[in-house]
Amino acid sequence: MRRVCALCGRETDILIEGLCPDCYRKTHPLARVKRDVVGIVRCPSCGAILYRGGRWVRDPRVIEKLILESIEYMGRVTNASIETLSLRHGLNTAVVKIRGGSVHELISDYDEEVQVRVRYSEELCPRCRDMINERERAVIQVRSVVPMNGLLKRLIIDVVRKETIKNERSGFLKIEDTEEGGLDIKLSDQSLARSIAYKIHKAVPSRVTESQSVVRGGHGDKVITKLSISVALVPLSRGSVIIYLNRPYYVLSYSQGGAFRLMELGSREIINVRLSEIIKDGISVPSYETRCVEDRGSRSLEIMIGNDRYVLNGMC
Ligand SMILES: [Zn+2]
Ligand SMILES: [Zn+2]
Repeated sequence: MRRVCALCGRETDILIEGLCPDCYRKTHPLARVKRDVVGIVRCPSCGAILYRGGRWVRDPRVIEKLILESIEYMGRVTNASIETLSLRHGLNTAVVKIRGGSVHELISDYDEEVQVRVRYSEELCPRCRDMINERERAVIQVRSVVPMNGLLKRLIIDVVRKETIKNERSGFLKIEDTEEGGLDIKLSDQSLARSIAYKIHKAVPSRVTESQSVVRGGHGDKVITKLSISVALVPLSRGSVIIYLNRPYYVLSYSQGGAFRLMELGSREIINVRLSEIIKDGISVPSYETRCVEDRGSRSLEIMIGNDRYVLNGMC
């Protein structure tokens, strides 16, 4: 009697549930992944791995364990190992090779691969978090009157790095993004904090204020204080277009004394506004376009804010 595979139609000596061994294998994988995504959380300070949302384990082999534990075997398997895996922030794919297995006794052993999706993130483990909190003696709270863009954040991170390296100090702990879009720079060294804040102040128009608070001590104990430095940025330079007190302005210059020279776009009136007033009153940046227009030999700057068009002669 001829035996024919129900799926591919080939003649076959071995028929398993109506299928040839090849088709049976194709429709019966050796393994399946039980979870959509395997989460791997690593402590950036000590390298510990969070094991199943509970324990932090200081053994990198836990990563392999977590991935292999997500696989359920549908047949007999001799061995499984991770073939490729890179851990970048976000989603990654791990390829797991399953060796010497089979889904049916009539099929001889073979290898198969399965892909596991891995989400990688970093988070301080409680021990490192406590250690950092214990050592934290200063925080620089960098805030901005207009949303900080990536360039501005990089500039600040650069200042922190350069100052830390320059002073060969180990006083830098970490930088955190705050919910409202600012940066908190945490340090164990108060004088390093002051020099970083000063350098940020020199690089970007800003107002710096500081306060000390007692963290622990008094009553005869050694007093431990924490320094908070607030840096309020007004990241404007010549050419910025802003809305200040409901009017559009073109920024002409900034003096280190702490004042901006602004030109009101409607009336061309030039005013001086102190940085502290801008912080108090607030500003916004409209969406606008600028271009140079040439007319009878003179170049003018054209600024479009929505449907309003302003032309500044000789400014281009
Ligand atoms: Zn077949
Ligand atoms: Zn840690």
